[in-house]
Amino acid sequence: MAVASSTTHGTQARKSKDAIAVETDPPQALTDGFHLVIDALKLNDINTIYGVPGIPITDFGRLAQAEGMRVISFRHEQNAGNAAAIAGYLTQKPGICLTVSAPGFLNGLTALAHATTNCWPMILISGSSEREIVDLQQGDYEEMDQLAIAKPLCKAAYRILHAEDIGIGIARAIRAAVSGRPGGVYLDLPAKLFGQVMNAEAGAKSLVKVIDPAPRQIPAPDSVARALDVLKGAKRPLIILGKGAAYAQADAEIRALIEKSGIPYLPMSMAKGLLPDDHPQSAGAARSLALKESDVVMMIGARLNWLLSHGKGKQWGTEPKKFVQIDIEPREMDSNVEIAAPLVGDIGSCVAALLEGMGADWQAPSAEWTGAIRAKVETNVAKMAPKLMNNNAPMDFHGALGVLKTIIKQRPDAILVNEGANTLDFARSIIDMSKPRKRLDVGTWGVMGIGMGTAIAAAVETGHPVLAIEGDSAFGFSGMEVETICRYNLPICVVVFNNNGIYRGTDVNPTGGSDAATTVFVKNSRYDKMMEAFGGVGVYATTPDDLSRAVNEAMDSGKPTLINAVIDEKAGTESGRIGNLNPQSVVSKK
Ligand code: ADP
Ligand code: MG
Repeated sequence: MAVASSTTHGTQARKSKDAIAVETDPPQALTDGFHLVIDALKLNDINTIYGVPGIPITDFGRLAQAEGMRVISFRHEQNAGNAAAIAGYLTQKPGICLTVSAPGFLNGLTALAHATTNCWPMILISGSSEREIVDLQQGDYEEMDQLAIAKPLCKAAYRILHAEDIGIGIARAIRAAVSGRPGGVYLDLPAKLFGQVMNAEAGAKSLVKVIDPAPRQIPAPDSVARALDVLKGAKRPLIILGKGAAYAQADAEIRALIEKSGIPYLPMSMAKGLLPDDHPQSAGAARSLALKESDVVMMIGARLNWLLSHGKGKQWGTEPKKFVQIDIEPREMDSNVEIAAPLVGDIGSCVAALLEGMGADWQAPSAEWTGAIRAKVETNVAKMAPKLMNNNAPMDFHGALGVLKTIIKQRPDAILVNEGANTLDFARSIIDMSKPRKRLDVGTWGVMGIGMGTAIAAAVETGHPVLAIEGDSAFGFSGMEVETICRYNLPICVVVFNNNGIYRGTDVNPTGGSDAATTVFVKNSRYDKMMEAFGGVGVYATTPDDLSRAVNEAMDSGKPTLINAVIDEKAGTESGRIGNLNPQSVVSKK
């Protein structure tokens, strides 16, 4: 939007040292860096900003809101960044995080690296201090060479120095974030840029609407044929769906491929619900058997990283495996093991090509194989069922998650956010998802602290109710954002699994001294009071029945709610399911 040269804003801007000389008589419409950035984002259908206001971007946030953008202000940049990262995952548009310079930038950077690691499009926009002073290291307010620091931690990093480059700079950032393998982009906007003034008409012309920001990438026909050959040669094939498949939003094609192929599939954590978890071909509850016994494995938007034991070792059994891998990133192939049939392209196009190539005479895998998986799934589900029905007080993980499982089943549109150690592991395996992109969790790093940022963006982007199931430790990383939840009156119900500490609440200081043990928190904390402090609903729940009632009420009312769910402090295990990654001292303790 153009600003008249007579506005306060225009006057201020013209005082800036860098302001481009403009003809003021007769008065003409002017614009400035602030407005050009806003207009460039809006032109590209980016209408939401997550951030924390402060120098030098305070006015930018205000103006963005005035220009009709949704600006969600957080209490800490890392949470705003996590919100932007997950917004990118949910929408295929880069989520925007806006921060102040140096410390604010660094706080946001963790989330930018997290987005990049997870292959989610995000743009971290940080204001920065005066270039001349930063480069001579003369000690400016919040001085830092942010561009250099961001570069190795994201997919691309750019700085815009002149107002007339804002259009192209934002276009570049958007394309870098969403094309190919998506990722995080850093955009450095020096304070002085915002005040630069230019002719409004020239400014409008300088903006760029990015055409086809994430073009389809059609796989080569011979690689499709090779993949089909490998699949046809399989006796015990398995498909693994990753969050790249969920991100791709090719839901119908993926379902058609799985159903036509008849191949059992295993969803990675955030791919749960791409097909409903109770689908007859789901091998979710027979994970070990499926990984061990399969002979051909097709990965769709999933990486053979630590979450899949790098495709080798005990978990994968002794059978030699052949891998087919669908990924948009060619360098992902052979990253851990040999890929017999790499299929490089976007998931929608690759899956469509495979479906077409399968033809009418496609043979489903043997009933021996699919039956063995089915039988294992049924046994495991039946074994779990009674554990989920206990009404113990204090609760154990199974009792508490049993009722939450029912609630998510009854409310398939609700979004589940989940982090913690035991709270994460148990919830992932116990709670079935029935729709795509409804389970949002710690992602590739297994990082704690994504909870409230993720919950807030999920509510803002989708308008659906959000249930955040949080370990008490995990919640602590972003807990202050309950104020943000109340301020924007978002339909978020946070359940804190309170077991008095990390993994368990039972550790004691080995010296017998008065300091608490390193993994415990204040016993019987009342997290529910935090939500009450800001006008939300707080509930103290000691039984699964209490918990069920309170969550249903929160999901019906849409009121910001925090339920302190009292979990037996002895119930958890060290590090949850990844205890093997947490080295233990072999030197005997005193
Ligand atoms: P998970 O943790 O669920 O296994 P990963 O994050 O490890 O999933 O893997 C996601 C993969 O999906 C990445 O290798 C990424 O390059 C790929 N990917 C993301 N979007 C697309 C897409 N549209 N088409 C093809 N591959 C994609
Ligand atoms: Mg805990």
